[in-house]
Amino acid sequence: MVKTVIAVAECKSYNSDTVAMAMKDCLSHLGGLDSIISSDDKVLLKPNMLQAALPEENVTTHPAIVEAVAQEVLDRGATPLIGDSPGGKFKDMEKFWKLTGFKAVSEKLDVELVNFESAGFNILKRNGRKYPICKTVLESDVVINLPKIKTHSLTIFTCALKNMYGSVPGLSKVDFHRKNPKPYAFSERVVDIYALSKPNLTLVDGLCAMEGAGPSGGDAKPLNMILSSRDGLALDTYICHILGMTPSKVASNRIAIQQGLGEGDINNMDIRGWQPPIIDDFKWPSNIYYSLEMVPSSLARAIMKLWWSRPAINQKKCQNCNVCVESCPVESMQSGALVPEINYEHCINCLCCMEFCPHQAFYENKSSLYSFISRFLDSDKF
Ligand code: SF4
Ligand code: SF4
Repeated sequence: MVKTVIAVAECKSYNSDTVAMAMKDCLSHLGGLDSIISSDDKVLLKPNMLQAALPEENVTTHPAIVEAVAQEVLDRGATPLIGDSPGGKFKDMEKFWKLTGFKAVSEKLDVELVNFESAGFNILKRNGRKYPICKTVLESDVVINLPKIKTHSLTIFTCALKNMYGSVPGLSKVDFHRKNPKPYAFSERVVDIYALSKPNLTLVDGLCAMEGAGPSGGDAKPLNMILSSRDGLALDTYICHILGMTPSKVASNRIAIQQGLGEGDINNMDIRGWQPPIIDDFKWPSNIYYSLEMVPSSLARAIMKLWWSRPAINQKKCQNCNVCVESCPVESMQSGALVPEINYEHCINCLCCMEFCPHQAFYENKSSLYSFISRFLDSDKF
């Protein structure tokens, strides 16, 4: 049986030359980029550009990764493009490009930046559901997925599969959150979108991951590696494994395995290059909403009155910018004199506000019962 190849390179610094060398090393274990792109190809690079955040804030794919891949593409005579659709409603794309460092990469290498919000989309169907997918994703000859390893308050984990969620332009992303507040149903959408925009190659920024309250308010966790594979599911599975998480406990992994979208068995993977150690102190988010998947909605609602974890705003950190208010898919937030107000009666706990806050001002406010139960469930990673 032919095993799925995962290439790993050790890389301890975001210095451009160091990343470029590690990138070459990583790609060499996959047979190089020549086996994937031709000289006349249009190659879309799809980083994680969740927020208009500086590279050192650790929320977005580091520009050194994007630069190294763009250079590899240029060296083969092909044409790279850099594009993504950020989260939230406020879309001053110039600010996103500038702060993330992607604009500097674009200017240095003369690479086009593609605004997914204005590039147009086609409506595609999967599993009976409709999705607007950016035309640039669909029309590029090759798509290279460039995620960052992060925890996610709702889905637990975000990397290869979840990064392609940005193929959907505009507020449809928020709408999918609104219609699917539970982790499993939302993960089904994540997997659909990954399948519809399936990248040819994934290269993971694993130099410095985000642990704890990801994908924007967590802590930096150096892992010192770049990983790559043609199979995004295999990458997500392997990364969960080395970070001490049972891969099948992440719903998107489970769903993608069921749908045959890639390899989900560690035993069927051929890990080439640097062999990273198992990291047993990685901090995962305390997401016990998965337990609610098992009970009927009416019972879940009754339980939630006593057993809840809600987004709350730290007044000292809040800049009252209202990004969260605009990002709430069910309009359960409104502007306030000092900080926005949250109407918990209408809140569906999608955590979009937490995800899109550019100042990491949100924290999880837990009921006593929730804190008590979490202690037991967390001991086995849910
Ligand atoms: S919580 Fe965050 S997003 Fe909301 S107003 Fe405050 S700083 Fe802005
Ligand atoms: S308040 Fe926050 S968690 Fe609640 S529905 Fe709005 S965005 Fe989602």
